[in-house]
Amino acid sequence: MRVLIAEDDPTSRLMLEAMLKQWEFEPVTTNDGQEALTAMQAPDAPRIAILDWNMPKMDGPEVCRRIKEARQDNPPYLILLTARDDESDIVAGLESGANDFISKPYNAKELRARVGVGQKMVELQSALINTRDALAYQATHDPLTDILNRRAILENLERELARAARSGSYVGVGIFDLDHFKQVNDKYGHQVGDEVLCGFVRRIQEHIRKYDILGRFGGEEFLLIVPEPKKTAVKDFFGRLCAEVAARPIPTQAGDIAVTVSIGVATCSTGSSLDAIIAQADAALYQAKANGRNQVVYCEPT
Ligand SMILES: [Mg+2]
Repeated sequence: MRVLIAEDDPTSRLMLEAMLKQWEFEPVTTNDGQEALTAMQAPDAPRIAILDWNMPKMDGPEVCRRIKEARQDNPPYLILLTARDDESDIVAGLESGANDFISKPYNAKELRARVGVGQKMVELQSALINTRDALAYQATHDPLTDILNRRAILENLERELARAARSGSYVGVGIFDLDHFKQVNDKYGHQVGDEVLCGFVRRIQEHIRKYDILGRFGGEEFLLIVPEPKKTAVKDFFGRLCAEVAARPIPTQAGDIAVTVSIGVATCSTGSSLDAIIAQADAALYQAKANGRNQVVYCEPT
């Protein structure tokens, strides 16, 4: 693990560097407060810093303050090093955002132990952040297809509707329903059914743009949000997606399985409610099924 050293005294700096290397850390040395701050603000900055109190350009507590201000999500572990051991200085040092405080002259074993505590803290913090991010991902994604789940896609739709209302652009909302999907499950089993669902999602993903948003609405129903400046472009786009699904079968462990999809599309530009646009797309989907499936039906905006 890399550890930043900020120390203006060359002898102290060399000593610290040698000790950290001996303890199998990778020291990154800086000579003043400004250099230390720059190094700690780099994207791949060290996660632990040992900062001298008195340094040219910027003192240790000021460096701590600025680092903590800038890195609130996953802050590094900061140890202030100083000849001061007055109680008020310790308080001031810790208030600046330092996590620990060591008085010079320090005992090497004590410093090692304290750097070790810092290492445990940053490792624990990283693990917590990874867990938090993983939970946030799980809360918004469908575990089978790895696209947004129902709640997340509806939240996205709410946001896109608000954006379209502000900018006067269109949002196309398509509800996709795989045709006769129950037959796939009945004939090949649920595992193959799941493969078809994943294959269908990958097929759609190959043909949508970065700013289109796809989610699983439930079962074999999916929702695609297409932000567009023009209404006519929405129509063409869903038509192409429908044709792409029918164009090639989906490979599964039970062999290639041909599927088609029915799509109900609603477009809106001004202030439609989420419920209204979903109801319109749903009615269009019902019509597409009634018309014989493997097609797109558009609900004209009212
Ligand atoms: Mg100094």
